[in-house]
Amino acid sequence: MSDNRGCCAGSGLISVDEAIQQLLSQASPVAGSEQVGVLDSLGRVLAQDIISTINVPGYDNTAMDGYAVRSEDCAQAGAQLGVTQRIPAGANGVEVKPGEAARIFTGAPIPPGADAVVMQEQTTREPDSDIVIINKVCRPGENIRRAGEDIKQGGVILKAGQRIRQQEMGLIASVGVASVSVKRSLRVACFFTGDEIVEPGNPLQPGQIYNSNRYSLNGFLQTQHCEITDYGIVPDTLEATVDVIKQAAQHADLILTSGGVSVGEEDYVRIALEQLGELHMWRIAMKPGKPVAFGRVGDALFLGLPGNPVSVFVTAQIFARPLMRKMQGETQTLQQPVQVKADFEWPEVKRQEYLRARIENRDGESWAVVYPHQGSGVLSSACWAQGLVVAPVNTAVRRGDSVSYLAFG
Ligand code: AMP
Ligand code: MG
Repeated sequence: MSDNRGCCAGSGLISVDEAIQQLLSQASPVAGSEQVGVLDSLGRVLAQDIISTINVPGYDNTAMDGYAVRSEDCAQAGAQLGVTQRIPAGANGVEVKPGEAARIFTGAPIPPGADAVVMQEQTTREPDSDIVIINKVCRPGENIRRAGEDIKQGGVILKAGQRIRQQEMGLIASVGVASVSVKRSLRVACFFTGDEIVEPGNPLQPGQIYNSNRYSLNGFLQTQHCEITDYGIVPDTLEATVDVIKQAAQHADLILTSGGVSVGEEDYVRIALEQLGELHMWRIAMKPGKPVAFGRVGDALFLGLPGNPVSVFVTAQIFARPLMRKMQGETQTLQQPVQVKADFEWPEVKRQEYLRARIENRDGESWAVVYPHQGSGVLSSACWAQGLVVAPVNTAVRRGDSVSYLAFG
């Protein structure tokens, strides 16, 4: 996170970092876990460390197709060795004696006596001949994958709190584990406020717009692998807003909404939350996404994102994601920005700006290019972009300056 201390003194705004810290301090990981098969574990968070009961590889084996030899026989290039056996993967050879070589294939165990493997490309052998010529000097251990080189028996291979990606699925399977204990999925309820919003598939009347937030937010929630209860559009009335929040709070760990958190007369989320639980209306020193509501109803946390489509998109990344990761029991909650060079100029600003950006590689350096229209209603900017560049408060950005970049996904 950037250092924006002092950005907001006297402005009534809180900094992004402060808002994130407050969110995280209110959240605790869900209790409860379940056992799932490794094939069904993608995106889940480990509830327990995984310890390997075996070495991987389990035995010394060859990294190449070629010939297993005694390196002392090949101290000079041109050694001629008798080929006495053939060892495909899955088979076991017998001892390689002085003057002998074993034809061997990738993954097969190194036979006793041999201590090196010569790639077949570095040998000469006539068709049907029992003699192979080794065209190089061999060193002991060459082209051998050692037992336990990847994983040692008894070692922790993955820690509780790790989210399982495709590579973790493979690693877990490589030690013979068929199912894992994962945290139960986070239950997230969402709804979308506004009398002007209409579901896609219906005609628009004058003054109406389509409910794009429902789709971008559902997409976001799907990437977080949570259980989603989507209440759809909620009209701008206090009664409807109170009703849906009451229902959602009965089962959800987190209620996530869009719109209705400004201070307009038609914004009922604040009033409903004040009736049902507790609420902090935050004006955050960021753009887009100034108004965000955070509170609690019963056991459920409540995060009310702004209504503008780009604001929803950005605040979901910046606030909802770390909050959900913490609630899901993940150890790594915050995304670490990378530093890139600005291929743009940006004026000194009072609210930290999250610019939709792409990275271009030039002469080995990464340059951030920003979308020309950064308005909070311009959702095309988010589709064009690969990530967000942070324009910090109180500092103008000049071309070539180092800026923080948060990649999507
Ligand atoms: P609000 O915070 O409710 O005042 O909404 C701010 C802006 O976002 C308004 O222009 C709304 O029309 C727009 N907006 C609110 N909800 C949605 C939605 N679900 N999909 C697309 N735009 C929305
Ligand atoms: Mg509204």
